[in-house]
Amino acid sequence: MTMADAHNRSSTTFAPPRLSKSKYLSGLQCHKRLYLEIHQPALATPPDASTQAILDMGTEIGVLAQQRFQGGVLVKSGFRQREAAIAETATLLQDPMIPAIFEGAFEYDGVLVRVDILERVQNGEKGSSSWRLIEVKSSTRVKDVHLDDLAIQRHVVQGAGVRLDATCLMHIDTGYFYQGGEVDLKALFSIEDVSEAVTDRRGLVPARLAAMKALLLESRAPMIEPDQHCHTPYECPFWTHCTKEKPTRWIYHLPGKKEIVGQLVRQGIMTIDEIPNETRLSDVQRKVKNNVEWTSPELGRILHSVSYPIHHLDAETVMLALPRFPSTRPYQSLPVQWSNHIELESGDVMHQEFLHNEASEPRRQWAEALIESLGEKGSIVVYSAYEEALLRQLAETFPEFKSAFKAIVKRLWDLLPVIKSHYYHPNFNGSYSIKSVLPAVVPSLGYGDLMIQEGGQAAAEYYRMVFLESDWVERDSIREALLRYCERDTLAMVELRRVLREKAERHV
Ligand code: SF4
Repeated sequence: MTMADAHNRSSTTFAPPRLSKSKYLSGLQCHKRLYLEIHQPALATPPDASTQAILDMGTEIGVLAQQRFQGGVLVKSGFRQREAAIAETATLLQDPMIPAIFEGAFEYDGVLVRVDILERVQNGEKGSSSWRLIEVKSSTRVKDVHLDDLAIQRHVVQGAGVRLDATCLMHIDTGYFYQGGEVDLKALFSIEDVSEAVTDRRGLVPARLAAMKALLLESRAPMIEPDQHCHTPYECPFWTHCTKEKPTRWIYHLPGKKEIVGQLVRQGIMTIDEIPNETRLSDVQRKVKNNVEWTSPELGRILHSVSYPIHHLDAETVMLALPRFPSTRPYQSLPVQWSNHIELESGDVMHQEFLHNEASEPRRQWAEALIESLGEKGSIVVYSAYEEALLRQLAETFPEFKSAFKAIVKRLWDLLPVIKSHYYHPNFNGSYSIKSVLPAVVPSLGYGDLMIQEGGQAAAEYYRMVFLESDWVERDSIREALLRYCERDTLAMVELRRVLREKAERHV
């Protein structure tokens, strides 16, 4: 336990703090997380702008979901106005003319919840109606964590005296095909009755709540070692705090299936270097344990199997929960950006790029500019099979590009499997992501100097730039950051090929 964990509180004289459903879910993930969120929230890593953009997308979906319930009324009192929100909700419950309540507030057993949608099922006298509790998620299916989310809501709402007929999850239906015009909310959302599964979970709530309340009265955070549970169902914001004293070769950094890590930890092994030689490891795990640079004798020959002009292509996409352009589905990958570094036989390297930076259909312009940039000659180096899948999908929607894309796909040359099979560097730490591979092979080049450093962040920033941000200075700075990020991905491939060729020559 670190000094920061040793939070001095004068023991059991306090009443446990009020919980919310998000705190309950934090407690289910990890008691230490719940404790720190309540008593030492400053130790958390704050969400960045990209995370905020994803949350904003979820809020947008929540508002849209409400529109499916005509005549529904929103509880206007905010999240900090607890008593006012509860009173407002109680008044709405008793008005038989109101078919649905949005953001209704309820408190029971020391837990406050706000319910996304309560739909009146049967009218009764003075609030005695029965209701359907509906949680809205921007995900595409029911997940385990949603059942726990609904279980705590049902515990509180029923405890507060409301009769529930059903408990449901409303989520995005990826089968919906948007053809333009007004969005069909009935088709966009699917409502699944999960009452039975939630009943099983609800039985566990009182004991779980009691354990959480008891731990919150302790003077110190519980001693819980960080491991796989810190990333599921959500990334824990205390990861940096909990792992700051771990060694560089901490056993948890062993890639691949985490069961082996659990077994090794149970044997008291805390670093990769302590793993006994006879332990059964996968190929990658063995390379990480050996921790030495390795070059296959085949590497040089394979790297020379490209033809000039050598293009280096990276595409960026965005996935929108709410489809905005005709002939798209929710969460379909929409290409919005590409970068192409072209290496000529003379050794000169040119750079071309494209970024669709407005809220309109991006695909046609993206494809036309790409086809022109790639021309008809030379290999096209990519890093993963992502670009190929994207081109094949686009060819289905835009038959006019089919033959051009088919020709492009034939020229694709994937650097990732080449590196996986023919080269290893200790600084990969078991990861073949270009974000790990580039700084290991080309130490002068990485992503640390960029505002955007990975694909998920790029997609979230793109969404923020096009759909949320109104300040043009901020929009301009995001645009520049997106261009520099994508450019780095393709320059990375140029430099990786160059340095790996040199290494292969030295190895011969
Ligand atoms: S990082 Fe892991 S161990 Fe630490 S509080 Fe979060 S979930 Fe718990």
